[in-house]
Amino acid sequence: MRHRSRLTSIERQIENQRLHALVVTHPANIRYLCGFTGSSGVLVYVRGDWFFFTDGRYTQQAKGEVKEAMVRVDSLPPLAHATGWIATKLKPLQGQVHIGVEAEHLTLSARTRISRDLRMSLPPSKYRLVETTGIVERLRVVKDRTEVQQILSAVELASSIFPEAITSIRVGATENAVSARLDFLARNAGAEKMSFETIVASGPRSALPHARPTGLAIVPGFVVLDYGVIVSGYCSDMTRTVHLGRADHASRDLYAAVLEAQLAGIAAVRPGVEAAQVDEAARKVLRKRKLDKFFTHSLGHGLGLEIHEVPRLAKGQTQVLEPGMVITIEPGVYIPGRGGIRIEDTVLVTEAGSEVLTPTSKELVIC
Ligand code: ZN
Ligand code: ZN
Repeated sequence: MRHRSRLTSIERQIENQRLHALVVTHPANIRYLCGFTGSSGVLVYVRGDWFFFTDGRYTQQAKGEVKEAMVRVDSLPPLAHATGWIATKLKPLQGQVHIGVEAEHLTLSARTRISRDLRMSLPPSKYRLVETTGIVERLRVVKDRTEVQQILSAVELASSIFPEAITSIRVGATENAVSARLDFLARNAGAEKMSFETIVASGPRSALPHARPTGLAIVPGFVVLDYGVIVSGYCSDMTRTVHLGRADHASRDLYAAVLEAQLAGIAAVRPGVEAAQVDEAARKVLRKRKLDKFFTHSLGHGLGLEIHEVPRLAKGQTQVLEPGMVITIEPGVYIPGRGGIRIEDTVLVTEAGSEVLTPTSKELVIC
């Protein structure tokens, strides 16, 4: 049912953009529209019908998973199979036909192959490849009840392992060891996989917003842990910054400032506000303390089937928040040579405002 209504929405977009066909190649978009979770497949709309092309490895899986599209299995690569099919279906039409592709996801070589395969059946003047952007992503931005539930399951699983994960943070333990422990606990608790490479960053390395864990030993000071898990295909994302050893006044103040900014960001989340306003609400708190120059990234991002989705909560982003959007709020302060702090929750936009999904406390933990 949900797949049918999603396809109907896409059909309206196809009509608005005057396309005769649409080629969906991005796996997350394919999964969203027809339910297929494998890695090799192409979903095609052509002349009123949806077709899903895959290869022999996925015959059984496609039959079990694909909803609302006719499954076609062939020994040809799915994209070649799909292109030939489109050419056959569109050939009888009068005039030039417009075939939409997902410009943000199609490689140049795949585009060249599509053109080459189309030319085998159609004269070059007969067709035009139209670069579309965000047709499916715009639909994915508002989550339905089931999706919110799936994200919540991922968020709760990630939070549930946090208390045990931080017991491995001690002087001498490496960042790698802590991140491996985190990943192990997550998988053991039922995560399909991590939503991205777990970040564990200690000492001056905590001032790198996207630090990769290293073989270096954790040193006293702030330790940033940023991780997420995937459950039923949906991602979670959280960051907590803990302190190894006693935290002095200045460190506690810095932590309090980031937390205040994070709470201000959350308080600004409600339907009708622009993404940039939420970013500004958090940034303003840091500006008052002359810390805004150390907050070097955007405030947050949407998440769902992918870890980074629209909307982007950043300066200049005019997208208006709507109930059902799920976003992160994650301000940080990174002082080169000294260290960094980031606090991140996953937040649902509701009719009344917002609901923080991440249950983990944000009080500074001393390890
Ligand atoms: Zn994160
Ligand atoms: Zn994030």
